[in-house]
Amino acid sequence: MNSGQLWLKAVFVGAVVTAIPLLIFGCKGTTDPNSATWPDHPGPKVVVSFAPLYCFAVNVAGDDAVVKNLMTSKGPHDFDPTEADVKLISKADIFFVVGLGLDEKKAEKMKGGSGNSKLKVVELGEKLDKDCLCEGRCTHDEHHEGEHEHGIDPHVWLSPDHAAMLVNIIRDELKAADPAHAAGYESRAAAYITKLNALKTYGLDKLKDKQDRRIVSFHDSLAYFEKTYKVKVKGVLTKNPGQEPDAKEMKELIKICTNKDAPVRVIATEPQYSTSTSGEALRKELVAKGVKDPELVEFDPLETVRPEDLTADWYEKKMRENIDKLAEKLK
Ligand SMILES: [Zn+2]
Repeated sequence: MNSGQLWLKAVFVGAVVTAIPLLIFGCKGTTDPNSATWPDHPGPKVVVSFAPLYCFAVNVAGDDAVVKNLMTSKGPHDFDPTEADVKLISKADIFFVVGLGLDEKKAEKMKGGSGNSKLKVVELGEKLDKDCLCEGRCTHDEHHEGEHEHGIDPHVWLSPDHAAMLVNIIRDELKAADPAHAAGYESRAAAYITKLNALKTYGLDKLKDKQDRRIVSFHDSLAYFEKTYKVKVKGVLTKNPGQEPDAKEMKELIKICTNKDAPVRVIATEPQYSTSTSGEALRKELVAKGVKDPELVEFDPLETVRPEDLTADWYEKKMRENIDKLAEKLK
């Protein structure tokens, strides 16, 4: 190599070294999932209602679309949109929500308030095969907004199987909105589904030796998780998140959990409702009634997120945490 070639090589290496941080950090503005403004970036502008959907959409979108997440500290049961949220919606092309009685009413209201009549609100859960939907455990006598309708459990994202189905629906919507980048959406969706399959295997493996798989869930949210991971949800602590069980409901739970042939010793709590005392109250009752080793386990239904934590792999990380915690407590 003569000095001219060396010089060229130095220039080339220098250019690459300079380009790497630009490639990694250059698009930071476009990838901050929670900022309330749209970056100057080509491709579809996509809003999702809450964090798991962000992960599903952003993994399919890659650099071909921009994805923004709405809900952070308050999840779909409690969320009230702000003016900034409605402003974000006013410039969006697609709004992915779960539907199934969970978040679509607020989405439609926001769409109305934004004046963005071109916005396509996609209720992902409604596009699932009806055979893939599970009944929830609690039936409500009356429906308020934010409650589940038709007795269907809307928490489809808590199974990697269903997550993969949602990813395919997102893929098809993005392909339709942006056909020029169809191949990219295809390949990224396939790559992400490989990760979701790995997540499924991880959980099945972690839980495979558990003999006693019975639990009480905190709110009625685990039908899909239960199906995939073969745990058995025997009861639900709170009818609606944030509403503590009354004396009659508590009595019923104690009866279920002290069943002689099939006692329940693992009771789920949720980080979103850490001030709830009903899980611990139930645990103490079970101790008093002779159930062996009753324990609380924190299970995060992934309805809220700390904004700074929301990355493309957040869903997988949080699901693994849930599985690990459950594996620690089940016997
Ligand atoms: Zn929920």
